[in-house]
Amino acid sequence: MRKVKAYAAHEAKGKLEPFEFELPDIGKDEVEIKVHYCGICHSDMSMLNNDWRQTQYPFVPGHEIIGEVVAIGSSVANLEVGNLVGLGWISKSCMHCDQCIDGAHHLCSSKEQTIVRRHGGFADYVRCHWSWAIALPDGIDVAKAGPLLCGGITVFNPILMANVSPLNKVGVIGIGGLGHMAVKMLNKWGCEVTAFSSTPSKTPEILEMGAHHVVNSRDSAEMKKIRGTLDFIINTTNVTLDWNAYLSALTPKGTLHMVGVLTEPMQIRAGALLSSEKSITGSPTGSPIQSRKMLEFCARHDIYPTVEAFPASQINEAFEHLKSGKARYRVVVKMTP
Ligand code: NAP
Ligand code: ZN
Repeated sequence: MRKVKAYAAHEAKGKLEPFEFELPDIGKDEVEIKVHYCGICHSDMSMLNNDWRQTQYPFVPGHEIIGEVVAIGSSVANLEVGNLVGLGWISKSCMHCDQCIDGAHHLCSSKEQTIVRRHGGFADYVRCHWSWAIALPDGIDVAKAGPLLCGGITVFNPILMANVSPLNKVGVIGIGGLGHMAVKMLNKWGCEVTAFSSTPSKTPEILEMGAHHVVNSRDSAEMKKIRGTLDFIINTTNVTLDWNAYLSALTPKGTLHMVGVLTEPMQIRAGALLSSEKSITGSPTGSPIQSRKMLEFCARHDIYPTVEAFPASQINEAFEHLKSGKARYRVVVKMTP
């Protein structure tokens, strides 16, 4: 049994308050992690607000976790006490369905999500199945790596899915937590990167991150200029935009890929797809093996999110900062003193 001290909201949009609960004896396939750092993803905000109608209160957010293994179950063979690991959106999958056997554990229909019907990483301890505790590459900066475990893998998986090549010209819509990591990764992947941002004051920083062009997504003249130029566009916003304009920005056979969780259906003209064989695709996070490869890629190329650090005592201020749209570009909470 483990007593856990966490931060929980007791109602939709409520403040996070100290909250204690107990975990039963560790399961044979489980890993227990002492949390050192945890990033705040927009999905934490959407869950806190019950935007997706699946939040249970008391609700402990947090799924961009970096910590140290402090206990392992009797069947765990890949990790030892003392290892540094990361944990993202998913904390368990069945390991025997077709998807798991195929290596696509993130598509397992009986997966457990770190902050859905269980308590997440704004806590001193969190548990997961061994397959989702991703060992960190040696020398990785633990204070910055947390956001790679959700935001990072969510934008890395589409690069693999779409077979994005260094010869491609790519676009990233929304330069927030996910979007700014996508810009940095796609630059190192070798692509020509166009960032679509609705916040002109971000432009110098976005260019610094590795974008070759920044388009003001609120300026229709700028949007018209890039018609027919991009092979692949990833959308990281959760708002309704002019999707037909983004489909027009694609080359023939181009793909618009969705990772932002839109709350409204997309209004798309069929003609915008069929006339030049364009596609719209989407993906959730990525698998454990993709997460390992993503961390190796980021460590090799020195790719980290640009983070703003808050102490755990200011967790509500940290959430407020993200909500205000002022985060530059990912908020990380230090969970240890
Ligand atoms: P974030 O840090 O808040 O960034 C979102 C960005 O979208 C903003 O920085 C802004 O960029 C842009 N944006 C916001 N409002 C806009 C508006 N009205 N018009 C145009 N652009 C706007 O959020 P995040 O943590 O990156 O998460 C983004 C989305 O991905 C959320 O829906 C989240 O739930 C989802 N998500 C999905 C997965 C998955 O598995 N598929 C995983 C993680 C997160 P600019 O200022 O540059 O315009
Ligand atoms: Zn997330």
